[in-house]
Amino acid sequence: MRGDVVSFGLNEVALSLPTAQLAGVAAPRARQGWPAHAGPRSFSSSPAEAPIIPTTRVSDTRHFFTVDVEEYFQVNAFEPVVSRDDWSRMPRRLDRTMPTLLDMLSRHGMHGTFFTLGWIAEHSPHIVRQIVDAGHEIASHGYWHKRVVTLTPAQFRDDLRMSKTALEQVSGRSVIGYRAPSFSIVPGYEWAYDVLAEEGFLYDSSAFPIRRPGYGSPSAPRVPHVLERGGRRLAEFPLATTSMFGMAIPAAGGGYLRQFPFSWIRRAFAQAGARGTPATFYIHPWELDPDQPRMPVSWLTNLRHYRGLERTTVLIERLLSEFSFGTIASALDGVLGTSAPEAPLAHTR
Ligand SMILES: [Zn+2]
Repeated sequence: MRGDVVSFGLNEVALSLPTAQLAGVAAPRARQGWPAHAGPRSFSSSPAEAPIIPTTRVSDTRHFFTVDVEEYFQVNAFEPVVSRDDWSRMPRRLDRTMPTLLDMLSRHGMHGTFFTLGWIAEHSPHIVRQIVDAGHEIASHGYWHKRVVTLTPAQFRDDLRMSKTALEQVSGRSVIGYRAPSFSIVPGYEWAYDVLAEEGFLYDSSAFPIRRPGYGSPSAPRVPHVLERGGRRLAEFPLATTSMFGMAIPAAGGGYLRQFPFSWIRRAFAQAGARGTPATFYIHPWELDPDQPRMPVSWLTNLRHYRGLERTTVLIERLLSEFSFGTIASALDGVLGTSAPEAPLAHTR
């Protein structure tokens, strides 16, 4: 049986993926219209490499700029040293970092999708309002930043509902997208897709098609695609990768932006652009904050969390100079055949 994912309604891509991994993944509807500058209308997910052109604006493809909005003390690696009970007593730093991010996007005339914790909406609602007022998309990163692999389906649903309610009440906008903390919808936890669809979400962006301890869905398609789950459809926007030596290399941003050669990141977006398939970038606000309080953690966590923080802003500037970025919601029409809701909710802000 052919794997049968796939994507934007154009050239079907013959992916040799395990049937189990692709169970429930269906071919999409015909493309119903990418944004005008979405680039060429065909792509392939084969590892064949496209030429890399490391100059400004290598293609017209509009990639996805995404931000996981959380405080520096809320990362999963710090769970052993910062209890959730202590979150509200910790000094917060988003007021220092969010203006930098929002200003960069504004200067480049671009918008992004901000996967925000419900906790942030409740405790720092002005941050959510700043994001929305600047024209960006608000999506969910859960409420308590709990990895899906630590939750039962019922617990996941509760956390998801709490986050959606908090974010919608503050933003006045429908929340239709989700990213799991630490990309934790991994093989064996596909039930999370069912819960997402049942709770009214239209897309997920948690799949990281790499092999890595802790997370990764190495068999997941590396391009946006549609998941068919029990009669419901959910679009999936995987994190950017590139291929080297026959291996999928993570190149989506975050720690990889800070610790890998920038040429690897550029290569991933240039290849995706050459194929005409958007790639997904991500960053955390705390990654723009070299002065954040240091936590007493292992040398490995120390390395992953703190190395290269002083480079982040410059590297994002370079990326925004060389590629075009937009929100995920703006591309849903082309993947799912369903437009994102235009009208805000009736909530008052
Ligand atoms: Zn997170």
